[in-house]
Amino acid sequence: MPAHSTKNGFSAHKLTDAPDFLDVLIVGAGFSGLGMAIKLLEAGTTSFLVIEKADDIGGTWYANQYPGCACDIPSHLYSFSFDRNPEWSRMYAGREEIQTYLKACVSRYGLEPYIRVNTAMQQAVWDEAAALWRVTAANGTIFTARVLVSAVARVSTDQRTGKICRPGISLDRVGRKCAA
Ligand SMILES: Cc1cc2nc3c(=O)[nH]c(=O)nc-3n(C[C@H](O)[C@H](O)[C@H](O)COP(=O)(O)OP(=O)(O)OC[C@H]3O[C@@H](n4cnc5c(N)ncnc54)[C@H](O)[C@@H]3O)c2cc1C
Repeated sequence: MPAHSTKNGFSAHKLTDAPDFLDVLIVGAGFSGLGMAIKLLEAGTTSFLVIEKADDIGGTWYANQYPGCACDIPSHLYSFSFDRNPEWSRMYAGREEIQTYLKACVSRYGLEPYIRVNTAMQQAVWDEAAALWRVTAANGTIFTARVLVSAVARVSTDQRTGKICRPGISLDRVGRKCAA
């Protein structure tokens, strides 16, 4: 089944496009997930995917689109430490400029093939016998991965229980290879 492009240019792959087995599955394409992906590539790992429930990357800076949305620390501090941006147009960059920076990072590091948008993790189950995660996305795609990285952000999770608390999502992370 062929992949099709979303309005933002990323692939929205269908079930049969999912790789059989990944070393690492990253959930969330904000600063955290993208930073992790860049570092995996730099370390020579190519068996990974970033899945993102929204239809574009950027996380916070894509989700919040209200007028005046901006960072509240000086912009020169608000970028990846390994990829400083000398081009911020103002002291406290707006959300659009920050998302543009993140998109430029995706392009600069060649991350496009590793990102699946419109792919919300719905369930993650640790298969003890096979020693891997079986992750089901809301669109029906099933991923298997040795390591699961949760980059869904603090507001998406209940820190007391370790459960993803968005509606319809359940994830037991206790004692498993799962990073946040
Ligand atoms: C207005 C505003 C101003 C801020 N200013 C600052 C600042 O000045 N300095 C600072 O340090 N921080 C600031 N922050 C905090 C900011 O959120 C973080 O700095 C950073 O962007 C968080 O990145 P993240 O990748 O951890 O999370 P996010 O950017 O929230 O990304 C998480 C991603 O996970 C995705 N996701 C969630 N659940 C699922 C799922 N089940 N399946 C697939 N994908 C999923 C989400 O759609 C999202 O794209 C600000 C936040 C806001 C809203």
